[in-house]
Amino acid sequence: MASQGQLWSRGTECVAKYNFAGSATHDLPFKKGDVLTIVSASRDPNWYKAKRSDGLEGMIPANFVIPSTDGSAREAPPVHTSHSRQAVKLQEMPWFHGKMSRDEAEKKLDVIKDGLFLVRESNNFPGDYTLCVSYDKKVEHYRVILKNNRVTVDEEEFFENLVKLVEHYQKEADGLCTRLRTPVDKEGKHEVCVDLDAFKKAGWAIRRKDINLGPLIGKGEFGEVFQGEHNKAKVAVKSLKDQTHDLQKFLAEASVMTELRHRNLVSLIGVSIDGTPVYIVTEYMAKGSMVDYLRSRGRAVISKQNQLDFARDVCSGMKYLEEKNVVHRDLAARNVLISDDNIAKVSDFGLARETKYVQDGGKVPIKWTSPEALRQSKFSNKSDVWSYGVLLWEIYSYGRVPYPRVPVDQVMQHVEKGYRMDSPDGCPDSIYRIMRSCWEKEPDSRPTFAEVSKHLAAISA
Ligand code: AMP
Repeated sequence: MASQGQLWSRGTECVAKYNFAGSATHDLPFKKGDVLTIVSASRDPNWYKAKRSDGLEGMIPANFVIPSTDGSAREAPPVHTSHSRQAVKLQEMPWFHGKMSRDEAEKKLDVIKDGLFLVRESNNFPGDYTLCVSYDKKVEHYRVILKNNRVTVDEEEFFENLVKLVEHYQKEADGLCTRLRTPVDKEGKHEVCVDLDAFKKAGWAIRRKDINLGPLIGKGEFGEVFQGEHNKAKVAVKSLKDQTHDLQKFLAEASVMTELRHRNLVSLIGVSIDGTPVYIVTEYMAKGSMVDYLRSRGRAVISKQNQLDFARDVCSGMKYLEEKNVVHRDLAARNVLISDDNIAKVSDFGLARETKYVQDGGKVPIKWTSPEALRQSKFSNKSDVWSYGVLLWEIYSYGRVPYPRVPVDQVMQHVEKGYRMDSPDGCPDSIYRIMRSCWEKEPDSRPTFAEVSKHLAAISA
């Protein structure tokens, strides 16, 4: 990544460290090893307009290339690993049924078939799991212990996650009553898990010794966030406090980020898994979270144009997620970060999932969540549109807490009866109309992010 203040001038030659397929129409795709010439810098220090040797021009992410003028470009190994980076896919666990009683499990396995199995959450030992296997007309229940981030049945052999454990016992019984043969799949959407090795294989592992930790800049759900330096660029480093329980959730966020690259989404630089605590390294956003920025600067500093730019920036990041069928589920001003040059980027993909995985569970930010997502856990790009309406309200009220004076536990009732927030003071009608359209009761009646984006393009500050 081009560090702040280290701008590349027009004509600088760069060599691509990785393949870049591009996602938006103005992106310039290239292959590892291609030579690109910088045409101009953009508002975002992480993106440049560049030209390929065949003359095609477009936007390129700065952290995918290295200037050949610094002498090291051609012979230097890629920054993160020796190969280009791939997306890290979450692994599905169709046989994982989550919360389920012993009796229910026995009913599901009540077919005379040896090796029929499923995994459920343990009722007696919260945090642990139970592997249930049908054998000789009975069902055996094995406790799967979660210890130091690994899972085990016998405290002798440990596996990185449930998928690896199941794969092992599918190959051989190894002490169980029988080899696991036929999974009983859960109906509906399946839970997913993350494979640590997959980050290394996909080229996202960063060596711990290549990260310089700087000052503490924030506290998140999983632990502390530090400013840091990696490859001479400022980065943000998120650390995982509780190694034992949250690793899968923590890395699920990083795995979603490996698939996403857009100027209005905070980009992943890599993960450091060669020690503890585990780190997620992302681009550094100098002005911190949008909600703090709005509150601390207020009307005196934030212009109408800034507000419109923020609204457009977030919408274009969300439009990209919509195109990729990724649902964010926690869109709010606290989860948008502001760069040094005032670009807003969506962050916190902790709850984000591809639409095929989205399901209930987890914490729900009530004031930002649509009625159908609150009531029936129906999260979709259209429930993100609802949250976007609330975020617009936050931008135009300079970071006020939504539904002022309404206690959180009464918000849902009010909204279901048709109550909607008033327009913030000084908010243009054209913007308030967008908010209201995002808060249509029927998800289908709400606009898509592509449509909101068109409306915003037609508005002037
Ligand atoms: P999070 O865990 O993402 O909720 O982050 C907690 C806090 O850390 C945020 O509210 C920010 O103040 C700060 N922070 C997180 N990521 C970054 C980043 N990429 N750049 C700068 N500050 C960040």
